[in-house]
Amino acid sequence: MTYEEKSVSSKFSDEIRHRLGGETIAFCYQCGTCASSCPVAKVTDKYNPREIIKLSLLGARKEIVAGDTIWLCCSCYNCQERCPQEVEIADVIYTLRNIAIQEGNVPDIYVAFAEGISNEGRIVPVSKFAEKKREEYGLPPIKPANMDALRKILQATSFSKIQFKKGEAQ
Ligand code: SF4
Ligand code: SF4
Repeated sequence: MTYEEKSVSSKFSDEIRHRLGGETIAFCYQCGTCASSCPVAKVTDKYNPREIIKLSLLGARKEIVAGDTIWLCCSCYNCQERCPQEVEIADVIYTLRNIAIQEGNVPDIYVAFAEGISNEGRIVPVSKFAEKKREEYGLPPIKPANMDALRKILQATSFSKIQFKKGEAQ
């Protein structure tokens, strides 16, 4: 399907521009500097930040919000540092993810990360293997996270109010 054949609307780009992080999206003139700077785009043709910006500006809301490409960004900010138009690309991607989260389109792995943070203060639990290796190397056990402090942060940032739903963006 070509872009011309997609159902497009400017409402989506307006929605993005009015959210925190999305303000600069309309400055893009499609030069491609972001795509050529992106380490993820170098290893997979599934991901291209210029395309994400383009589709968003064209109003391809469903394709972006329900798809999995926005979750491939590794937030390195290479693109954002180099964009000649000062488009805050990585922040735009966060904005798109926030919209996707609100609509229940979150890959399972991110739901697991959120649960790990909320329950143990860690994205990845400390494995028995890691504990054993630390002991062998004479390192002390890893201290548990300060959950009281963490809960305050999660509450203050409203993270604890987010309802993560599994399985709709695989
Ligand atoms: S580098 Fe900036 S202006 Fe160029 S395509 Fe990417 S977002 Fe658009
Ligand atoms: S922040 Fe995301 S889009 Fe930008 S260069 Fe890094 S991986 Fe690519």
